[in-house]
Amino acid sequence: MMAAAAASEKCDDVVLIDKNEKLGKKLYITGKGRCNLTNACDADVFFDNLITNPKFLFSSFYGFDNRAAMDFFESCGLFLKTERGNRVFPVSDHSSDVIKALKLRLEHNNVRILNDRRLEDIKILDGRVCGLTASGEYMKADRLILALGGVSYKGTGATDDAFRLAKSLGLKTVPAQPSLVPLTSPDKWTAQVSGLSLKNVSVRLEYRKKEIFEGFGEMLFTHFGVSGPLILSASSYIKEQMYGDGLVLHIDLKDALTHKQLDERILRDFSGSMNKHLINSLDRLLPSGLIPVVIELAGLDPHKRVNGITRAEREALVDTIKDLRVSINGNRGFDEAIITRGGISVKEVDPSTMECRKIKGLYFAGEMLDVDALTGGFNLQIAWSTGHLAGVSAAKE
Ligand SMILES: Cc1cc2nc3c(=O)[nH]c(=O)nc-3n(C[C@H](O)[C@H](O)[C@H](O)COP(=O)(O)OP(=O)(O)OC[C@H]3O[C@@H](n4cnc5c(N)ncnc54)[C@H](O)[C@@H]3O)c2cc1C
Repeated sequence: MMAAAAASEKCDDVVLIDKNEKLGKKLYITGKGRCNLTNACDADVFFDNLITNPKFLFSSFYGFDNRAAMDFFESCGLFLKTERGNRVFPVSDHSSDVIKALKLRLEHNNVRILNDRRLEDIKILDGRVCGLTASGEYMKADRLILALGGVSYKGTGATDDAFRLAKSLGLKTVPAQPSLVPLTSPDKWTAQVSGLSLKNVSVRLEYRKKEIFEGFGEMLFTHFGVSGPLILSASSYIKEQMYGDGLVLHIDLKDALTHKQLDERILRDFSGSMNKHLINSLDRLLPSGLIPVVIELAGLDPHKRVNGITRAEREALVDTIKDLRVSINGNRGFDEAIITRGGISVKEVDPSTMECRKIKGLYFAGEMLDVDALTGGFNLQIAWSTGHLAGVSAAKE
């Protein structure tokens, strides 16, 4: 939609083809239906939040950055607001208004919209695009922008068409992998505390004892393992081969306290409940569901009386609270992945135009490229920036 909007500023014969019966099905579910359409951060923060191939995005971002995207939407009549972490949303809190704004621009620029048409094939002659087949119908086209998205959330119409078409054109792809995705654990205790959400915790993700992610914030235990904002971010740093091979999440449940401070705090709590069982003496320190889990992982007897707890046992408790470990053996797959990592190799694409290096008149944009980012509006900004550049470049030619 952004590519078509940009192209139609300079070119009066733009056709937008989508296999869905309506436009923006994935956009509709973004940001829990509110659409976090970009992030109002500085450029360096934007690039810090990009995971794969950030340099590839320099030209497209600087040509149409987050401020330009906000101006674009406001010029389409969409009022925006900025929330915690610079996340930008429509004032209405309705993603449907973002889709409406884009559609309005497309209609204003006389873009012909063809829904329910699936791009099946691209015709190339002498190294140039000359046409395409969509749902059995051949159409002439001297320039074609592909923005087929990722493969996650199939209900939105997502497929692996990008990979299939790239292969048929002889273009290199990087295998698809779910990202920004909840993680699974073989540790049965996570199911025991399913639904428990932790705020203000710090987590470290280690692969074979080497840190690959570190963050502070919110996470959630589920019947299959772990989820929530911190975990989705952590998933962006995991390579497929790491799963089940020494991938461990370390949770610090009391980030604000040092080991010594936590020990003193426990001693204080204990002093008021000397005759209680250990299991009944930690309710001011930990969420109730976690108490039996922490005691078991620390190797302690839950029914031991507090006045009999040794220093070594207290140390084990402190160590477990400061380093609760969850083994990670997989993720929830494309059904629950916010984005797809992998896609058309950036080596195939000229970053200053988004044109395919091998096939003239063929452009790429959005999530189908091998670029991805953390949550916070960054992935949609990638789509706006690359879409805009692809549209402008295609129209210029
Ligand atoms: C639950 C969820 C929440 C998200 N929330 C956010 C958020 O708040 N902020 C954020 O920045 N990002 C968010 N994302 C990620 C963001 O939605 C995507 O990165 C973004 O939509 C990618 O845009 P795109 O245009 O590349 O692909 P898409 O939005 O997936 O669009 C691709 C389009 O191509 C069409 N298509 C595919 N194949 C064919 C074909 N063969 N022929 C014709 N048409 C075809 C599809 O029907 C689709 O309409 C979220 C993702 C999910 C799943």
